[in-house]
Amino acid sequence: MNLILFGPPGAGKGTQAKFLVTRLNNFQISTGDMLRDEIQKNSEIGKRIVEDMSDGRFVNDEIVNSLIEKVVFDPDMKNKLIFDGYPRSLTQAKNLEKLLEKTNQKIDYVFFLNVNKATIIKRIEQRKTVENRSDDDLDTIIKRYDKYMITTKPVLDFYSKNSNFFELDGSSKIEEITAKINNFLNL
Ligand code: AMP
Repeated sequence: MNLILFGPPGAGKGTQAKFLVTRLNNFQISTGDMLRDEIQKNSEIGKRIVEDMSDGRFVNDEIVNSLIEKVVFDPDMKNKLIFDGYPRSLTQAKNLEKLLEKTNQKIDYVFFLNVNKATIIKRIEQRKTVENRSDDDLDTIIKRYDKYMITTKPVLDFYSKNSNFFELDGSSKIEEITAKINNFLNL
């Protein structure tokens, strides 16, 4: 089963993805983590993206799509994908459709964790004290949230017309969201 967890930064996608990884024995595909890893390794990609990432801008589609391609074509991960933070633009959503089609896969569920800006700001400020990410300061948080809302609106429209799309209140308690997702998945 392949799923997408969709929602603004700080919506709780990573948290829910981790529960699902355990429950389904799937893989969490977090483009944010993959990109941070490239920076940590100081790879060619890492060097190209470091500025965009610390400023809260999107990394260009070509780089992100190339990372995703490897994952979708990996036979060990086939039908075990939990996308967290991807797709984030219409180009990425269309790219994903194409890759899935080529590998005879599909997205079974899309969960949209909807959270308002004030809650996101509060959550990310808390996360900053734990994870110390360079893109978690207040200005950057606001930029990332606004950018997310504008750019991802077409992605939302792309998925929300399908019957496998479910919107959840991302400001609810973590366990309540987990229970709702489990319910939709009949777990
Ligand atoms: P995240 O960990 O999902 O909050 O992502 C952190 C940062 O990584 C974002 O602010 C972007 O700079 C970059 N990033 C993560 N995923 C994507 C994506 N799908 N497309 C473009 N940039 C991304």
